[in-house]
Amino acid sequence: MTTARYRRIVLKLSGEALSGKEGFGLEPTIIQSISQQVKEVAELGVEVAVVVGGGNIWRGKVGSEMGMDRANADYMGMLATVMNSLALQDSLENIGIQTRVQTSIEMRQVAEPYIRRKAIRHLEKKRVVIFAAGTGNPYFSTDTTAALRAAEIEADVILMAKNNVDGVYSDDPKVNVEAKKYDKISYLDVLNEGLGVMDSTASSLCMDNDIDLLVFSITEEGNIKKAVMGENIGTIVRGK
Ligand code: UDP
Repeated sequence: MTTARYRRIVLKLSGEALSGKEGFGLEPTIIQSISQQVKEVAELGVEVAVVVGGGNIWRGKVGSEMGMDRANADYMGMLATVMNSLALQDSLENIGIQTRVQTSIEMRQVAEPYIRRKAIRHLEKKRVVIFAAGTGNPYFSTDTTAALRAAEIEADVILMAKNNVDGVYSDDPKVNVEAKKYDKISYLDVLNEGLGVMDSTASSLCMDNDIDLLVFSITEEGNIKKAVMGENIGTIVRGK
């Protein structure tokens, strides 16, 4: 029996969360620490799906600013998320957690294609499912992927793990010391006030489908478990 608040979660990890101080590439010790945290939660019986970003390797916007075709640059970004997903899979399996990577762009030699019903079946069997390659579409983000997959698999919450910030603030707390941290806030306020929680496509999708989002810091160890147990950390963003 689980005493966790949530039965099924989508954990959104930015690419940056897997990288070292420079925010680039992969830092094995950090990936191991995140894997341990995922293990703690999986061992509670919570069904864990993970959406991984790719910004530590490549962002489509950067490519388009360099004069590349935006769609092509975005495909590169989606491929970056596959690399991150495989790194996380490897690390989780090293500590005895069963995983499946599912990609939104088919690459069958590397991972399963995304099939919703299969993903749900894996979750029911307590395998950690890692959703890679974003939505499979350019012009979207992995935040939107997290919102979309959370709706599809009927997750109870999206846990949005942030680097170096522990919730949603009225302004950038690193720049403005007066910035106020919210315990809870609505998607409408996030959108109206232009708060940098997630992009507006992702926020709208969450709002329209009533998906709860918990924004918290991954920098402190044990925070994923605290979030799952319903401890008072971070900021909860709700539809209403
Ligand atoms: N991307 C995309 N479609 C998607 C998801 C991601 O085109 O559905 C591309 C986009 O170029 C993005 C990159 O993949 O910049 C990496 O994803 P994201 O920026 O969301 O990663 P994060 O900021 O979470 O590390």
